[in-house]
Amino acid sequence: MEQHESRIEIALKEDNNTVDFGHTRVKQGEKSGLVREVFSEVSETYDLFNDIASLGFHRIWKKYTIWLLNLRSGETLLDVASGSGDLAIKATELVKPAGTVVMCDINDRMLEHGRNRCLDEGRLIPLVKANAESLPFMDDSFDKLSIGFGLRNITEKKRALKEFKRVLRPGGKAIILEFSQMSEDNPIKKVYDWYSYSILPKLGELTAGKSGPYSYLVESIREYPGPNQISELLKSVGFSSVRFQPLFPGGVTVHQVTK
Ligand code: SAM
Repeated sequence: MEQHESRIEIALKEDNNTVDFGHTRVKQGEKSGLVREVFSEVSETYDLFNDIASLGFHRIWKKYTIWLLNLRSGETLLDVASGSGDLAIKATELVKPAGTVVMCDINDRMLEHGRNRCLDEGRLIPLVKANAESLPFMDDSFDKLSIGFGLRNITEKKRALKEFKRVLRPGGKAIILEFSQMSEDNPIKKVYDWYSYSILPKLGELTAGKSGPYSYLVESIREYPGPNQISELLKSVGFSSVRFQPLFPGGVTVHQVTK
């Protein structure tokens, strides 16, 4: 047993080798395939859905994430679980002309969508298909790392966080933007729950013609550990300066850490 096994590590350990897939328990080895199916099904309409479902807020959260990264010209950024590339595309402007942004995702369809977006906007961003739990990059190779709305979909979160630390250079910074459960005393929690469970799957039906993947997205937020637990996990893999901040209106949290 590792020296600093924390409560969250124990909680994330699989009971009977099962993990959460939304509110359902599935075999550990099955989750990434199921997550892949979800994102393959929604890839075409992913951006439209984000705009409608978040009422445009996701753009503000992502802008803020990029601001927190404090990117400088010439720096290198790895955007993990990059999807259609919202964070990566914004970041390229800041690191040019000599810097590099790399988009990395496990899902071909999401990457394909991201690549088409880059081509449409006249940008060349390297894309790498990879599982965040096993990144195909050398140690200490990036100045910064970002992951937007990706961590909750990853089966072995601690393994992925260790990989983030490994590929970052000493002193490098990582930002994790992710949904989080609203606290019980949040005045909009009841409306948010109703919106999540009743409206979002219907919006999915309208935009992508199916509600199943959107039920998973909603449920996966409820199963995701809280910000304190994620902070504990980040510390357990050796990150320093671990801090987090809830973002308006409270269902999203941004974690900042340094290697
Ligand atoms: N970062 C983008 C954004 O903020 O719009 C996309 C977020 S999307 C909700 C989550 C992405 O995580 C999907 O593109 C999915 O394919 C990717 N993903 C899920 N599991 C992953 C894994 N184990 N490794 C890498 N990417 C993963």
